[in-house]
Amino acid sequence: TDLMGTVSLHNSVQMPYFGLGVFQSTEGEEVFNAVNWALEAGYRHIDTAAIYQNEVGVGKAIENSNMKREDIFVTSKVWNSDQGYDSTLNAYEVSLKKLNLDYLDLYLIHWPVAGKFIDTWKALEKLYTEGRVKAIGVSNFLQHHLNELLYKSEIVPMVNQMEFHPLLVQQRLLDFCKSKGIQYQAWSPIMRGKVADYEIIERIGKKYGKTAVQVTLRWDLQKGVVTIPKSVKKERIISNADIFDFELIPEEVAQIDALDKNERTGPDPDNFNF
Ligand code: NDP
Repeated sequence: TDLMGTVSLHNSVQMPYFGLGVFQSTEGEEVFNAVNWALEAGYRHIDTAAIYQNEVGVGKAIENSNMKREDIFVTSKVWNSDQGYDSTLNAYEVSLKKLNLDYLDLYLIHWPVAGKFIDTWKALEKLYTEGRVKAIGVSNFLQHHLNELLYKSEIVPMVNQMEFHPLLVQQRLLDFCKSKGIQYQAWSPIMRGKVADYEIIERIGKKYGKTAVQVTLRWDLQKGVVTIPKSVKKERIISNADIFDFELIPEEVAQIDALDKNERTGPDPDNFNF
């Protein structure tokens, strides 16, 4: 219903369902401005990662906003080369220091590195149990990765952040996560602007006076998926979030679902080498 609205994670932490992604937002002025504009526009959720190398700028923008810490939901992610128990604990401290924060709202395992992600998860469980982080989760975990994690650990991840857009719905994975209480979250939700190439999405938008990007982000929320479109441009940051004054009808949700081709724009979680 509004930009500050939240979903409740399975541990009752409130996660704003709309946020700003900052992948490829350059450290320094670019990311600082983007986060500032987003907070000014009413965004309350920022998604960064150690590998984005812009945590310092994100932290400075948060500080500059003069907002209360508890009013902003901040996510970061442990990078692949830091996976393992001790190295993850250390990576968390490094991220906090760069962000100049004393806790994160959500800390994610960025990719399911084979042979390591269970130890990494144990470190996240420790951080969570000790109250150092409000929620913990994973990213790019397919069902078999989740099954292994659920089998070998204590705490069910609160979030799974996945590539998700009209060409890659992965409805079965979405349903599986829902059945386990794992909140689904979309990365590359607007296919880096390419959703505008799809005539049906444009056509639905015309009915409501909205762009294809806005229709797609609204579709995310109506599917129960938390979304974090990235932009470094003020007008886009504002317009991307202008999606709370219309509602897609079920037929339109189904028309967008029907574009699904199981097609990735990014790496395959079963076959990555970084
Ligand atoms: P998005 O689908 O959010 O698209 C971002 C791109 O689209 C940018 O190039 C941006 O350019 C452009 N754009 C933004 N708004 C508009 C608009 N209204 N019209 C046209 N173009 C637009 O892709 P991302 O890959 O950035 O994904 C979003 C976030 O998800 C990331 O920033 C990151 O936080 C997270 N992510 C997580 C991953 C993971 O492995 N967990 C992997 C990838 C992303 P400009 O900035 O110039 O406006």
